Amino acid sequence: ELDSLDKIVSLAKARGFIFQSSDIYGGLGAVYDYGPLGVELKRNIRDNWWKAMTQKYENIVGVDAAIFMHPDVWKASGHVEGFNDPMIDDKQSKKRYRADMLIEGEIAKLRSNEKFEEADELQQMLDTAGSREGLCEDLHKIIMENEIRAPESGAFDWTEVRQFNLMFKTQFGATSSGSGEEDAVYLRPETAQGIFVNFKNVMDTSRQQIPFGIAQVGKAFRNEVVARQFVFRMREFEQMEMQYFVEPGTDAEQYDRWLEERIAWHKELGIRESKLRTHPHPEDKLAHYAAAAADIQYEYPIGWQEVEGIHNRTDFDLTQHAEHSGKKLEFYDQQQQKRYTPYVIETSVGLDRTVLMVLCDAYREEEVDGDTRTVLKLNPEIAPTKVGIFPLIKKDKLQDLAHKITADLREDYNVLYDESGSIGKRYRRQDEAGTPFCITVDFDGVESEGEDTVTIRYRDDMTQDRVPVSRIKEVLSEKMKS
Ligand code: ATP
Repeated sequence: ELDSLDKIVSLAKARGFIFQSSDIYGGLGAVYDYGPLGVELKRNIRDNWWKAMTQKYENIVGVDAAIFMHPDVWKASGHVEGFNDPMIDDKQSKKRYRADMLIEGEIAKLRSNEKFEEADELQQMLDTAGSREGLCEDLHKIIMENEIRAPESGAFDWTEVRQFNLMFKTQFGATSSGSGEEDAVYLRPETAQGIFVNFKNVMDTSRQQIPFGIAQVGKAFRNEVVARQFVFRMREFEQMEMQYFVEPGTDAEQYDRWLEERIAWHKELGIRESKLRTHPHPEDKLAHYAAAAADIQYEYPIGWQEVEGIHNRTDFDLTQHAEHSGKKLEFYDQQQQKRYTPYVIETSVGLDRTVLMVLCDAYREEEVDGDTRTVLKLNPEIAPTKVGIFPLIKKDKLQDLAHKITADLREDYNVLYDESGSIGKRYRRQDEAGTPFCITVDFDGVESEGEDTVTIRYRDDMTQDRVPVSRIKEVLSEKMKS
């Protein structure tokens, strides 16, 4: 079991899954780049989600909205006013913390020191802190009264707690005065609004009736206060969202349905069931737009954390946008002859958090012949490389056949030809990359009577089969599914 993210971070870097952004300049806080293996893994997960959420349903269609949106969108959505986190600064080290997370950290510390009563008491205080009004004062009081110190410096010299808006702001064009609120343009902090503002366009053009859904995958940006958890919390990240428009009154049932369908998706992705759970939000902690909300949580090495949110957003967004834009955003139900503003059930999953979940869940260290083998037991469907192909040694006869097989498989799969190092080293490299199959061309296979054969080695149990060359594709496609 992983007890921190450290091993995942180093494997991700060493194998080319994920790098720090601008690495050669020392990196940029909470911004990451995907390397050759990472980009494939991420794309496979994205494609899997897209297929599961659009192709599978007659009544869900996609959009790809721009990152920039009209500034009024964020007034209507409530983000300008309310998309804040409470922050506090350690005056000595000038380090900034999220006040609520500082308290959570203290609770975790108390628990690990087996001071359970004190931990529960502190948790109770945090749970009953004001949700919006008075939150800053409450959090400040908790920090002061419990003498919570800065984790790194140990100092106890705090500023007030202030609300900090998470949206990145910029301006358009050369005419901008540079500082005016009026002409501020934001990088979207969520993809959802691009769907709401296109609700009418999509309904008018795609001939959908309620209920129907709109799906989107795209970048979102949040100026996170605390950003020290690898790709779990980034300032630039990718969301995969689906907003499902339903008739009011059917929303509770649709909310339950989507929560169930989304959990099923995570399991189909190969995530262990014991590591997944749902966490309903208590009513007094709901976001301003929501009538019900639940997280789908995964047990990361940093604890149980949200990977996806399911929300009943009611008619909040469409009503707000109708009011601010002056456009009618309603549905006319011909059969029932009534007009209404649909409710929205939202499923919102972070792509990067899913990548991290997948890596953590697949990571294993196993003892093999007195050695430790590190292996990523990824679902073959999302593995970056599907097949590694190796000539046992650098001899023409073996290399030629290996090249031929590589060229042939390349048509269908992402494959990798590798002839450098011992065969054992090559297997280990592919184990760490999560490659489910390795094909080795050896002398036994090319020098015996009849058709040439190769060995196929399976990542998870390291067993091998000898297979005639003409049957390779058949065997792979069979094993890919199982
Ligand atoms: P958290 O409470 O962890 O900050 P959130 O409740 O603000 O998350 P939502 O606004 O519901 O998150 O966003 C939906 C999904 O987007 C989350 O479940 C998560 O997977 C992803 N997400 C949100 N913020 C980030 C981030 N900073 N980095 C990576 N993924 C994120």
